[in-house]
Amino acid sequence: MISLKDVSKKFKTKQGTIIAVDDVNLDIKQGEIFGIIGYSGAGKSTMIRLLNGLEKPTAGQIIVNGKEITSINEEKLRQVRHKVSMIFQHFNLLWSRTVAENIAFPLEIAGIPKEQRKARVNELIELVGLEGRGNYYPSQLSGGQKQRVGIARALANRPEVLLCDEATSALDPETTDSILDLLVSINEKLGLTIVLITHEMQVIQKICNRVAVMEGGQVVEEGDVLKVFQNP
Ligand code: ADP
Ligand code: ADP
Repeated sequence: MISLKDVSKKFKTKQGTIIAVDDVNLDIKQGEIFGIIGYSGAGKSTMIRLLNGLEKPTAGQIIVNGKEITSINEEKLRQVRHKVSMIFQHFNLLWSRTVAENIAFPLEIAGIPKEQRKARVNELIELVGLEGRGNYYPSQLSGGQKQRVGIARALANRPEVLLCDEATSALDPETTDSILDLLVSINEKLGLTIVLITHEMQVIQKICNRVAVMEGGQVVEEGDVLKVFQNP
């Protein structure tokens, strides 16, 4: 599904060159929930930006769904981004739009006609458990409900990969659990591949099949969650 081969990303700054991602090799399989964990500065955000094509690696190859994305043009990259969707720590909702309008936004951009959009939005509202909240504004929702809107919006155009960037870090433990349960049910229902980036080990332990541990831009350990986190 997603392969990284010898991927590095360097940034040139006034202080010198920073190696944000350092020679990373990874294979993420179709339909799995894959976690990337590491402390602040480990290179996680840069990894996510590489996976959705927002950054180009300095070296190496990234293959998404059989397509090499590092050398393709902007138009083809846009098609790949369609298949790779994202949710965020602070939800990134449009605050002047209702829940339904937020979810409809990517459908509008994709040029889906109004009637079809309505039907799809209703389906998504039900999928994430926001029945009756379609006409609410984000400011009227709890954090967990806001993230449900973020998830529905991310799924609108039927992506194949969902990237989650610290998606539960702004939520309390109970709400975190309910969002993680939702991600698992979506993974099972839709067969969607989920890549989850976090600094929280409990999140990885709760839902991931496999995990990569990042430190200083490198993957220092990788494998089944149970093996990587087993007590010595
Ligand atoms: P994490 O998400 O794990 O906190 P990041 O990927 O944000 O890690 O950062 C990894 C390293 O790369 C850090 O040292 C950070 O300062 C550096 N870095 C990230 N993006 C840039 C950039 N655009 N320019 C310069 N340095 C960057
Ligand atoms: P956090 O999760 O950090 O509390 P919020 O969800 O409150 O973040 O807000 C995310 C962003 O949206 C922030 O930049 C905030 O200023 C802005 N924002 C939050 N609520 C509203 C609102 N009702 N109208 C306009 N902007 C808002």
